[in-house]
Amino acid sequence: MDFQLNEEQKLLVELADRLGRDEFAAKAARWDREHEYPYENVEVLRRAGLLGMTIPKKFGGPERPLIDVVLAIEQIAKYCGVTARIVVETNMGALGCVMAYGTEAQQREIARRVLEDGDKPAIGMTEPSAGTDLTALKTRAVERGGSYLVSGTKHWITGGGISRTNLIFARIIDTKGNDQGIGGILVDKGTPGFTIGRVEDAMGLRGIPEAELIFENCEVPASCLVVRDPKDGFKKLMNGYNAQRIGASSVALGIAQGAHDLALDYMGQREAFGRKLKDFQGLDWMMAKSEMELEAARLLVYRAACNARRLENNVMLPQMKEASIAKAYTGHASFEVVSESLQMFGAAGYSRDLPLERMLRDVRMFQIGGGTSQAQLNMIARSLFAGR
Ligand SMILES: Cc1cc2nc3c(=O)[nH]c(=O)nc-3n(C[C@H](O)[C@H](O)[C@H](O)COP(=O)(O)OP(=O)(O)OC[C@H]3O[C@@H](n4cnc5c(N)ncnc54)[C@H](O)[C@@H]3O)c2cc1C
Repeated sequence: MDFQLNEEQKLLVELADRLGRDEFAAKAARWDREHEYPYENVEVLRRAGLLGMTIPKKFGGPERPLIDVVLAIEQIAKYCGVTARIVVETNMGALGCVMAYGTEAQQREIARRVLEDGDKPAIGMTEPSAGTDLTALKTRAVERGGSYLVSGTKHWITGGGISRTNLIFARIIDTKGNDQGIGGILVDKGTPGFTIGRVEDAMGLRGIPEAELIFENCEVPASCLVVRDPKDGFKKLMNGYNAQRIGASSVALGIAQGAHDLALDYMGQREAFGRKLKDFQGLDWMMAKSEMELEAARLLVYRAACNARRLENNVMLPQMKEASIAKAYTGHASFEVVSESLQMFGAAGYSRDLPLERMLRDVRMFQIGGGTSQAQLNMIARSLFAGR
């Protein structure tokens, strides 16, 4: 077991930290305030080689291990959660599912879109009546000759309306009308019958829209079906999604580390009762506890990323239990750490003049999106009792 970064990883961390500090920090408040997607940051990330880092060499990517993506996300999230989330979604999420289980043609095309165009693929699972209970989803993809007709409504889809590539979870219905189970189908933005509905007025991470995707007899070629064998389509797609949970945990961890760093600096400057805040033991213990939470969360996230299994096609997928433990722990711990950091600033922390209140709103998401903390606990518990 080795807890050291190699030279290449140290350079990557330096690069991501520098981009975060010099390029992303100053405008983070603007994306939040204006509800605006940071296209200019996407281009910076693309040029720096931080999009599609996991894409295999045969599709033009650098094929870096999952832990490298985690390291980069964590650094960027210290300065801008929205931009860090874009790194997640251009390395994991729908991209990860397609890279793991899609056809070679789908993999080549999605890789090209991410690496060359900076497309941020979207993943459409959640529906108004199917959230945690995804198996209740109603969207259907009905086979008709050489194509599928997709009908249904997704909501809270990150990047809805921005993303050209959309991986949609749907019930696959064969030509005889039989339900083949849940599978994934790729639908491009602009396909007739695919429209964007309500855009959510979300609490945090407001630089990426969460939108409703509406499909009305939207026809896509049969070649857009992602998992060929529908029998294990759902299981495979959920397996592919485990990488996203680690990505989400890395954003939460980075936001919390960023808030913690700001608080430590402030405590060396602010005075009360003739002393610096850092000279109050009660406050120091709050920060020491936060430090322990950050270190514990970091170890869980790094372990899940380092233990990711490499598939035959060189795509890396983490284990479900390790990914769920990392996400549930980090989601909770990061929120607590940001809240304690904000506390160090007193009223100033509660003001929009400082980034703490935004960070608190942003970090709250990670106990909900990508599967709630309770859903992670259910998966962990299931793994404990499997075979007993
Ligand atoms: C910012 C943001 C971005 C998102 N992006 C995407 C996206 O890109 N793609 C996508 O498909 N979805 C996305 N989602 C949706 C997200 O995945 C769902 O919100 C989440 O899975 C929970 O579903 P729900 O909101 O319907 O809550 P529900 O499933 O209705 O749950 C309500 C509450 O009940 C609890 N609960 C439900 N079932 C159980 C159970 N069996 N045991 C214990 N507790 C339970 C939940 O934990 C929760 O606290 C996003 C959500 C947010 C907030």
